[in-house]
Amino acid sequence: MIRVQSVAPDSLGAELGLTPGTELLAVNGRALEDFLDWEFLTADDRFVLGARMATGQEVEFDIERPEGLAMGVTLEPPRIRRCGNHCDFCFVDGNPEGLRSPLYIRDDDYRLSFRYGNFATLTNLKPWDAARIVEYRLSPLYVSVHATDLTTRRWLLRNPDAPDIIPQLRWFAERGIAFHAQVVLVPGVNDGPVLERTLGDLYGLGAAVLSVSVVPVALTEFSKRGLVREPTVAECRAALAAVDRIATRALAERQGGGGGPWCYGADDLYLQAGEPLPAAEWYGDFEQRENGVGAVRFLQTRIAAAVDRLPDLAGKRIGVVTGKAMGPLMPQVLADVASTTGGCFELIVVENTLFGSSVTTAGLLPGAAVERALAERRDLDFVLLPAEAVNDDLVFIDDIGADELAARVSLPLHLSYDFADVLGELGTRNAERGTDTPASRSAFPLPRSAFGVGQG
Ligand code: SF4
Repeated sequence: MIRVQSVAPDSLGAELGLTPGTELLAVNGRALEDFLDWEFLTADDRFVLGARMATGQEVEFDIERPEGLAMGVTLEPPRIRRCGNHCDFCFVDGNPEGLRSPLYIRDDDYRLSFRYGNFATLTNLKPWDAARIVEYRLSPLYVSVHATDLTTRRWLLRNPDAPDIIPQLRWFAERGIAFHAQVVLVPGVNDGPVLERTLGDLYGLGAAVLSVSVVPVALTEFSKRGLVREPTVAECRAALAAVDRIATRALAERQGGGGGPWCYGADDLYLQAGEPLPAAEWYGDFEQRENGVGAVRFLQTRIAAAVDRLPDLAGKRIGVVTGKAMGPLMPQVLADVASTTGGCFELIVVENTLFGSSVTTAGLLPGAAVERALAERRDLDFVLLPAEAVNDDLVFIDDIGADELAARVSLPLHLSYDFADVLGELGTRNAERGTDTPASRSAFPLPRSAFGVGQG
């Protein structure tokens, strides 16, 4: 059974009388377990829906959906599948006290992998789940592989029952499911020959593996550092060399099929190796940018695409908040925006005071650290904050709301994914009004959904 959270006006759901709290029981006699059943089983134009209304009455609706009319039903959030692994590098175990409660949930959920691109290990799949992935064609899935050597993978996941990943992926591949894979690089464990084997084994699965990323392990001050450590510069370079070898092979052997380099190093891997990032073209469709792969080049591409909409910001000072990871890379991006708009963009690199300085991603910045960084600033016209640092309710990881933060600092704040979103909208608005007004009030767009913070 799944429960309705809200119903859009003028939708089929509203016409049927569905309301918040209505229990959706079955479609065509098949019991509904979660949002996947709901979406796939109600995709047809005709179906029978069994529901328990807010009054307690059970009703069967024989539905013939008029073309173009949406059900308009938002479901209550799903119960997230918990992770049965115990990776030493898990962010959740490395979380300090006092964060939003969902951040203590270790999710390992193939449904969120399909829907949101969260990485899952597939170690907790029951036969019923596997059949469902195939039946609903949940493809592509995002899979944390880490190592294809079974002993190494089980060691990394701290799970003696983790299945052998290559036969598991092959079984799905034979049934039409594709994957994006990631390897979280733990030096001395899954680098060197283990990494070479992992990349070779995944490559051997053929077209079903769409891309592979190699991401250096990130640890917090609360992580179990006795067992894992961050890679050195030399280890990052060696990993990049392994990435390059298989990417060169993929480009030579698969280019005819339209494939790109196939294997990518995360931006952070280049940064830690002290090597330059590849050009934007290297990343194709930027399919793993949410995983920090090609994120910088993606930003630059977005800005270039929005160039006609960007406002004239001559004489304006704009603050850009980011984490330490993007600090060295961001000037490349800001130079593009500054030259297009004429504005003066100041990079404000904020250290993560909650997790410790070793956690450098902007997405985990606490509101309190941003507040401290902006507290004395009176010289900026407005500030762009990383939108990925807040959840759907616009709350930072330390429970400070974006509104609350805006009220505490005396500067207009804007959540932005790629600069082009906020600046482009400002440019369009100014063009309509015939003014060159800067963004004078805080405004917060809705961020994308995000669940969990485990590293894989
Ligand atoms: S890192 Fe991912 S797979 Fe490992 S324990 Fe955490 S949530 Fe589970």
